[in-house]
Amino acid sequence: MIIQLQAEISEQELTNLERKLSAIEYKTNYVTTQYGRYIIGVGKKEFDIRAIGCLPGIKDIHRVSDSFKLVSKKWKVKDTTIDIGDGVLIGSGHFTLMAGPCSIEGEEQIINIIAHLKANDVKIMRGGVYKPRSSPYSFRGMGIDGLKLWHKHASANGIKIISEVMMTSQIDAMKDYVDIFQVGARNSQNFNLLDALGEVDKAVLLKRGISGTIDELLHAAEYIFSNGNERIMLCERGIRSYENAYRNCFDINAIAMLKEKTHLPVIADPSHGIGLRKYVDKVALASVLAGADGVIFETHQIPEKAFSDGQQTLNFEESSRLIHNLKKTYAFKRELI
Ligand code: PEP
Ligand code: MN
Repeated sequence: MIIQLQAEISEQELTNLERKLSAIEYKTNYVTTQYGRYIIGVGKKEFDIRAIGCLPGIKDIHRVSDSFKLVSKKWKVKDTTIDIGDGVLIGSGHFTLMAGPCSIEGEEQIINIIAHLKANDVKIMRGGVYKPRSSPYSFRGMGIDGLKLWHKHASANGIKIISEVMMTSQIDAMKDYVDIFQVGARNSQNFNLLDALGEVDKAVLLKRGISGTIDELLHAAEYIFSNGNERIMLCERGIRSYENAYRNCFDINAIAMLKEKTHLPVIADPSHGIGLRKYVDKVALASVLAGADGVIFETHQIPEKAFSDGQQTLNFEESSRLIHNLKKTYAFKRELI
C-alpha cells in the first residue's frame, strides 16, 4: 500500500495512523521526496482501505500489489514528466532525443557535436567522462576536467548534459555540471549508488543491468525513489544472451512491458542495444513503436576515430537521418493510438 501524506499532517495524526497500520500488521517505511511524503505499507492482511483513507492528514491511499511500489503504475496512473529546465520535458507525451559520443574526448569534438545537435534541434547531449571499460588499458574518460570543459560549451549553447556516474564519491563534484546522471548497466544494482542518487534533486537515467530482469530494474528504480528522488527514467540497453552475432540483445519486449508497469519515462538505447552501427537506426525506430518515450544514441564526427564504441556510433549524416525518422515515427505512432 502507498499512503500519500498531507504536508501539514500533525505528529498526533501520524501516531494514530501508525497505530492503525500496526493493528493490521503492516510494516511501514517513511519516504520524503522533493515532491511529497509517503508511507509504504508492506503486509499481507486484508483490510478496509476506507478505514485508513478517511483518517486526517492523508491525501490519498492506494493498494499496490507489486513488490516495487513507488515506481508502479498501480498508484500513479498518469505518467511522470521530468522537467530538465529551459522547457526540456521528458515523458508523458514529450518525445526526447539524447545523442552524443560514447566518450568525451576533447574540446574540438565537443564543439563539433554541439553544432550537430543544434542543427538537428536535439537538446540533450550524452557523453561519458568516467567510462566503465572491460579492459583497464582502454580509454577510461577525461574525468571531471572533461566534464567542466563540456559544461562550458554546452551551457553556452543551451544544451543539457547526461553523463555516467560510476561511484558515490563522484556525485558531489559532478552534480553542478550535469543535468541527468546516468547509471550504467554495470552499476544497475549498485544499491549504495542508487541510495545516494536518491538524495540528489537531479534527474537520473537508470540503465538495465547487462543480465538484469525487468523486475530487478524496477526495484533498482525503487531504491532511488524511496530515498527521495522521483526524477527517474529507465533505459533499455540490451541484455546478454547466447547470441553472438551482435553485442547485446535489445529487448523490445521490455519497453512495451515497462510502459505498462511503471509511470516512469522509458528511454531506448539502440547503440548499446545492438552494438553495430548498421542496425542502430532500425532498432531505434522499432523502440518508438514499442512505446519508448525517447531514444539515446551515440554519434561522432568520425566514428572510426572514436576513443570508444566507434563500431556502434553513427556519423553525423546517419545521425541526422535517424533524428528525422525518429520524429516522423513518433508522430505516426501517436496517430495509431
Ligand atoms: C554508455 O552509455 O556509454 C555505456 C557505457 O552504457 P552501458 O552502461 O549501457 O553499457
Ligand atoms: Mn558507449
